[in-house]
Amino acid sequence: MKYLFEKQTKMILESLTFTKTLFAFDFDGTLTPLINEYENAKISDQILELLALLRSFAPVAIVSGRNAKELKTILNFKPTFLVGNNRLVGLDKGNNIDFKYEKICKTWYHDLKEKLFPNEKNDLGISLENKKYSIAIHYRKSRQKKIAKKYIQDVLTGLSSSPKIVWGKSVVNVIPMGAPHKGMALLDVIEKSGCTNAFYIGDDVTDEDVFNLHHSNIIKVRVGLKKNSAAKYYIKNQKEIKNLLLFLTESFCKNSKGH
Ligand SMILES: [Mg+2]
Repeated sequence: MKYLFEKQTKMILESLTFTKTLFAFDFDGTLTPLINEYENAKISDQILELLALLRSFAPVAIVSGRNAKELKTILNFKPTFLVGNNRLVGLDKGNNIDFKYEKICKTWYHDLKEKLFPNEKNDLGISLENKKYSIAIHYRKSRQKKIAKKYIQDVLTGLSSSPKIVWGKSVVNVIPMGAPHKGMALLDVIEKSGCTNAFYIGDDVTDEDVFNLHHSNIIKVRVGLKKNSAAKYYIKNQKEIKNLLLFLTESFCKNSKGH
């Protein structure tokens, strides 16, 4: 992986401001710092301002695995494109296959609820979220993360329809095989935007579905250096998102003055 703010890479970034580029951002852990109360996540005023400025120059997408409804209520920004439930919001793709995934997730949700909260509660700080096409089990609030993780692992072994299990940052994603993911969603957004290039940044395991796309015109950036990531570039931490947005918006401003 290469650091995004090296001289050469900065030139590539700058060149994006001369071409038809879509700028796509993961939400949690990328635009917002990861917090224990994930339902209270908000984009800071400063990042919000920079995003709005960027959107005045180019299409901006927020790409999240969060439930679309919930995402709309917590998102204090109106992007050009919004992806929730790993699906482009507004793109009518509802079909039997989606229904099948939804049904599987519903069954899992009830199963997991019974097993994780046998007495209607759980002392390990675990919470369960039905994201329509996937289930998320959070344990960020847990004070005994190792025990919580082991507990979740045990519960997951009994699930039907052999799910794809993706361990993220204090969260486990339980996904039906073949269900929509961020990579598929981003391709839909690129197509809809009519852009020839895209920039994508994300911080977690589910973003690897974007990083693994075989698409040479996507600049893929990870928040945090990680050995086995398929992303080509990285920024050091979530705080650097500000520098990224500053750099992009300044480059756009410079361009527009030159014309
Ligand atoms: Mg994230």
